[in-house]
Amino acid sequence: MGELIEATRVTGGAWPATVAESDIAVVPVGAFEWHGPHLPLGTDTILAEGFAREWAHVRDPDGAEAPVRAVLYPPVAYTACPGQTRPWPGTIAIRPDVMLAYLCDVIEGVVAAGFTRVLVVNGHDANMSMVRAAMEWVSGRRRASLLLANWFQLVTPEETTQIFGPQPSRGHGGAYETSAVLGFAPDSVDLGAAPDVPPRPRLDTSSPYVLVESRPTPWEGWSGHISLVTDTTGTRVRELAAERLHDLISAWIAAPLPDEPDARTAG
Ligand SMILES: [Zn+2]
Repeated sequence: MGELIEATRVTGGAWPATVAESDIAVVPVGAFEWHGPHLPLGTDTILAEGFAREWAHVRDPDGAEAPVRAVLYPPVAYTACPGQTRPWPGTIAIRPDVMLAYLCDVIEGVVAAGFTRVLVVNGHDANMSMVRAAMEWVSGRRRASLLLANWFQLVTPEETTQIFGPQPSRGHGGAYETSAVLGFAPDSVDLGAAPDVPPRPRLDTSSPYVLVESRPTPWEGWSGHISLVTDTTGTRVRELAAERLHDLISAWIAAPLPDEPDARTAG
């Protein structure tokens, strides 16, 4: 279990004690991006903020752990978006150089406020490189343990195959992501609005890879098998990913904190 304190509701007078009495800061990072006719433009922000809250409600197995006190910051709602979604209606794409500098300032600002452990809960694939680069920069300047959790990696590919069957379910706007939004914000999903758009198959290799391409036809700014989405898959994805995030935070809190950065590397 965790105890969430809304950073935006803390008075200036109460802020120093709030920081001092907290274990971690949590920063959701989303996007404002086309996800198909069936999903809201705030999909990634809904999910980042949703999971940033949901882990705190997961019960500890034996109920013995002290609750983690977490200060929840407001989400980063605009970010860099890839060429695959930039031209589609509604997407707002921040330039990567602007976004990286912005994230460096946000994360350093949270650490400077007095938090040594900062968790970023991310909802958007293209944020993975940006947030990591910002974390690397801050970690050389200040003593900090910075954890990036991408919600979509919290459930394994084997598990999504168990939930959705053999057809591809992961990917931008697909059944996995759509289920998660359905789990948190069912009123913002219109399952009838999108036909299935079978995604281009993954490369025939077991090697991990990063492939960045222009429009990967068939592609409508999203792809996937929406017909696989049900209320049950929505609940399952929400619960499973939240449990994993809770376990990840517990393991992180149990690990020792780093020492101060080497003065020679700070700059
Ligand atoms: Zn997304």
